[in-house]
Amino acid sequence: MTLFEKIIAREIPAQIVHEDGQCLAFRDISPQAPVHILVVPKKPVPRVAAAEGADEPLLGHLLVVAAEIAKKEGIAESGFRVVVNNGPHGGETVPHLHVHLLGGRPMHWPPG
Ligand code: 5GP
Repeated sequence: MTLFEKIIAREIPAQIVHEDGQCLAFRDISPQAPVHILVVPKKPVPRVAAAEGADEPLLGHLLVVAAEIAKKEGIAESGFRVVVNNGPHGGETVPHLHVHLLGGRPMHWPPG
């Protein structure tokens, strides 16, 4: 099981902010912004590069949920960033697809 599968199974505790049939969203343990939430599919797709055509609705769902959480967290108006790290150069550390939702402060561009 991946770390995030263990969180989904409630084997590892997390501050959960959203759950539905397709995904779980919880606060990042090492927040990089005042709001830093991970939106994780219950299906353990390793990374976006491993997604298949059948995963297209799921990938869209993760973004819609991220936008809904941004509204609930009060960062929709000020703005936010969604990030998906893929592979070693992308900064991926957990091999279970996840969307980072970051906000509550201005973001820099280009990213590091
Ligand atoms: P990645 O680097 O793969 O894009 O993102 C993995 C994220 O998972 C990191 O931001 C890291 O802080 C977060 N993370 C790692 N372990 C845990 C954990 O046990 N609980 C929570 N809530 N987040 C975690």
